[in-house]
Order: sequence, then C-alpha cells, then structure tokens
Amino acid sequence: MHSKRKPVIAGNWKMFNTTSEAATLVNELSSLVARFNDREIVVCPPFTALAAVRPILDETGIKLGAQNVHWEEKGAFTGEISPAMLKDAGCDYVILGHSERRQFFAETDENVNRKLKSVLKAGLIPIVCVGESLSEREAGITSTVVSRQIKIGLDGIDAESAKKIIIAYEPIWAIGTGRTASAADANAVCAFIRLTLTGMLGTPVADAIRIQYGGSVKPDNVDELMGSSDIDGALVGGASLKADDFGRIVGFTATSK
Ligand code: PEP
Repeated sequence: MHSKRKPVIAGNWKMFNTTSEAATLVNELSSLVARFNDREIVVCPPFTALAAVRPILDETGIKLGAQNVHWEEKGAFTGEISPAMLKDAGCDYVILGHSERRQFFAETDENVNRKLKSVLKAGLIPIVCVGESLSEREAGITSTVVSRQIKIGLDGIDAESAKKIIIAYEPIWAIGTGRTASAADANAVCAFIRLTLTGMLGTPVADAIRIQYGGSVKPDNVDELMGSSDIDGALVGGASLKADDFGRIVGFTATSK
C-alpha cells in the first residue's frame, strides 16, 4: 500500500445470504468497522439483498457494491441488470469480470470492456478482476495472461475515467482454496499490472489506480499483504461472510511500506 492511494477493502458475498442474513451481517459489521475512516469499505451482496442492506449502511461508512452488471442501459435482456438500476439501488461500486463469471458464464475480456465503459458512464466505481489459472501460472505465462486482460479490458478508457478504476488481482488458484499467493508474489504481479497501466495511460494515472489482491485473504495474512508497495486493498470472498473476520481484515495494520 502506498500513502498516495486510499486503501479499499471489498467483500464479495457471492451467492450467499438471504435478506435477513444480509441484514444481520451488516449490522454486526457496522459496529466493528465504525472507527476506520482512512480506508474505503465495500460490501457486495447478491442483487436480492441490496435493498435490505442499503438503509443499514446509511448509518455507517460502508459502501454498497454489486457483483455483476450488463453493459446496456435498458432493453430486452432477460435476467440482466443495468448500471442505472444499480445506481438506483444505492450501489457505488460493481465487480466486473470475476473469475467465476469468466469460468461459469463465459465472460470475456471484450465483455468486461463493454461493461467497464457503461459503468464509468453511469458513475459507478468498477472493480475489474484479472488473474491467471494454476496451469497458466505453472506454464510461466502469468504476465501474458494478466496483461491481455488489462489491455483488452481497459481498451479505449480515457485517463480521467481510468483513475476511478480499481483492479483486483485474483490468481484463480488462490480463490476459495485457502492457498494465498505469498505477499512477494502477489506484489510482483500487482507491480507488473501497474507497469502495464503506465504503458497504456502514463505514470500519474497508473499511480492513482488502486490494485487489490484477492484470493483467500484472511485475518492472519492481510497485514503482510497490505504492507506490500503495490497492493492497495483486498477483495475478500469467504472471509467477508463472517463479521469478525471481515472486521479484522478491514482493520489491517500495514507492517511495511
Ligand atoms: C473472491 O471471490 O473474489 C475471493 C477472493 O474469494 P476467497 O477470498 O474466498 O478466496
């Protein structure tokens, strides 16, 4: 984490929590994280719980995000939700291109790019996920994969808009597996992502963009991860479903800069 960039910790609840479970979780969480105003805190419940969570968050510094969106503004797209609908539901953030969407719902870098343009136009803050599979890492092509995802995903975005983007580096082999990338490995890929962004958008913009690490972030590894120079936050899956764990993650202490 760098003092120039405000850390951002986001919880991806995936397909978990009914409305009442969601309300209980954010009620517990709000008392745990009330004192942290030097960092952004985001929860991304399923669509069906957004309305239940929204009024509870009004009393806290916690922001609301969604896990997916469609790129069109409206129309005959059965089952989809538009950026304007997310704004209307009180969202400020939206996750794009999560590996589970790429893997199970055929999401591509081109789709992510369309969504990104639409989301920025609507005034939402996108969290764009990138990351390699285990076989890609073992084949030594992590940087090829990640740079393709960044170059296509962020193609045609102007510099001012790009500063608002959050990138989440999530190695697929570390998601939900209990296997975390070492802080050094995670930071190396995040630094490579920043270098790629520098080539596309220039140093001031690349220095402003926040890059999260995601993949089995837990209370016992968050401090070391957040102490790394190019890691500006965490995207948290499993541990974001437990108020105590997510509260502790939000309360990270970066051990080195
Ligand atoms: C995620 O879903 O984005 C994620 C990182 O999950 P987990 O923390 O459970 O690995």
